[in-house]
Amino acid sequence: MAIRLIVTEPDEVLHKKAKEVTKITPNVQKLVGDMADTMYDAQGVGLAAPQVGIPKRIIVIDVGDENGLIGMINPEIIEREGEQFGPEGCLSIPGLNGDVRRSMTVTVKGLNRDGEEFTVTGSGLLARAFQHEIDHLDGVLFTDVAEHIYKPGQESAAKE
Ligand code: ZN
Repeated sequence: MAIRLIVTEPDEVLHKKAKEVTKITPNVQKLVGDMADTMYDAQGVGLAAPQVGIPKRIIVIDVGDENGLIGMINPEIIEREGEQFGPEGCLSIPGLNGDVRRSMTVTVKGLNRDGEEFTVTGSGLLARAFQHEIDHLDGVLFTDVAEHIYKPGQESAAKE
């Protein structure tokens, strides 16, 4: 496994719709592992393949809860409930935060590294991470959907 370079704004790969993975190859499996290494190295809680320059529908998430590392291929939100409003940042947009309205709970379906389907239901930060990372696969950044954008250290407008 290896740490990959994180692509930052205004790279155009961040604004493209990523392609579905049609076959789980050793390269795809290695990419999932590399993305996890890269996310941990950067102390992030999630990373999408376009952020390492690869326009494929793959995400990794670890918000430090009992789910541990979630690596998901072709993730799809199949259920949403409630609403939350709070701060987000992005490894591809250093130096900015934004307050984003998201669903409070989501159920997400996708494939693991062995090509087996699984679903995860998460609330709060995990739900926020899923929505943020899946947005990346559609070329949507938090700065596109935030209601308020500010520098770290400045006050978030959201009171959760
Ligand atoms: Zn991001």
